[in-house]
Amino acid sequence: MAQERSSALFERAQRSIPGGVNSPVRAFRAVGGTPVFIDRAEGARLFSADGKEYIDFIGSWGPMILGHAQPDVIAAVREAALRGLSYGAPTELEVRFAEKIRELYPSMEMLRCVSSGTEATMSALRVARGFTKRDFIVKFEGCYHGHADHLLVKAGSGLASFGTPDSGGVPEAIAKTTLTLPFNDKEALAALFERRGSEIAAVIVEPVVGNMGCVAPQDGFLEAILEQCKAHGAISIFDEVMTGCRLSAGGAQQRFGLKPDMTTLGKIVGGGMPLAVYGGRADIMQCIAPLGPVYQAGTLSGNPIAVSAGLATLARLDAALYERLESLGSRLEQGLNEAVKASGVSACVQRVGSMITLFFHKGPVHSWADADGCNRKQFGVFFQGMLERGVYWPPAQFEAAFISGAHTEADIDNAIEAAKASLELVSKMKT
Ligand SMILES: *Cc1c(COP(=O)(O)O)cnc(C)c1O
Repeated sequence: MAQERSSALFERAQRSIPGGVNSPVRAFRAVGGTPVFIDRAEGARLFSADGKEYIDFIGSWGPMILGHAQPDVIAAVREAALRGLSYGAPTELEVRFAEKIRELYPSMEMLRCVSSGTEATMSALRVARGFTKRDFIVKFEGCYHGHADHLLVKAGSGLASFGTPDSGGVPEAIAKTTLTLPFNDKEALAALFERRGSEIAAVIVEPVVGNMGCVAPQDGFLEAILEQCKAHGAISIFDEVMTGCRLSAGGAQQRFGLKPDMTTLGKIVGGGMPLAVYGGRADIMQCIAPLGPVYQAGTLSGNPIAVSAGLATLARLDAALYERLESLGSRLEQGLNEAVKASGVSACVQRVGSMITLFFHKGPVHSWADADGCNRKQFGVFFQGMLERGVYWPPAQFEAAFISGAHTEADIDNAIEAAKASLELVSKMKT
């Protein structure tokens, strides 16, 4: 396959940028080969620097739920840009944005805008620690909450793909304040709270995990988190940076009818611009400066261009969109399941709404211990097969694929055909 320009750019990139990329998973290390350099995108299509066209199932890792270059979003960004790029002073746009988030997420009585999901989770945890005056936080193995020091512990996503479960540069003393538990293990959670409940500031969780591949919570698991937190005076935090506005306009919490103390949002809320949000109960959020003692700030926080892209995106999250995503998701799930069966490969498909993963594992996958049993070599062959056939699937086993409102039934059917052929290649691998 002709990827000459991408290869040349990758060569050049590696001289100036570590690994040639500005975020590790883009380097294709988990699947081999050369990353595709992108020239432009439109709807459900990516166009590479090599002049090749791909059906995109990454959507910039989540944000592009309306598809790329959605005309209303682009128009909003253009209009905002003409009024200046950043003021470092409050705007009406931010007020409208905050009101819109509160309308979609009633659990978020107050909220702050920041510029990345990493900042959102880091800030939420600082506030939870400040509010409770406790140091320890609980997270679940395989959940990724951005790259803050205390969150790079058993953190799924890129770290899982590279077999480096913990990061260098994180002081032992900081990592020690993070307690980890298996996802979907209510008993382990209860046992931990029994022993150390009075020391725990917060429990943070991806309510549907996307960062070890798509893994749904089992019955009662999320409820148990809310109950344990309530009983022990800890703060429950739903990290909905991925699931927010993805599983419904009101995120996983709306889908499941749950009310966490705090929530983090990112990705979709910025419509492809650097924008994320953290918020929650007013009494907790009032701990933040200038009202309270917990400091958090940002030169570009609530940036008018980003907020404009966010508002234009949020305005288009209607019931019809989620029905369409469900129907396309179900079509892809069914097609992949049939393709798996026909190939005889040991694999399973897991989906919640428009998040989907083909695990090279007989399944089901409920936790990191299960996910870790996936055959990564088979995934690599599958991925390259898809790419060759014009389907841009996430370049790592432990990343969920996303469907957008811009995908058509024909796009889904093309992806299923590509998956059939790619699974056929996997079935012929020497073991
Ligand atoms: C992507 C993601 C983050 C980190 O967001 P960035 O904008 O990449 O910093 C945090 N939590 C979850 C659940 C995510 O999927």
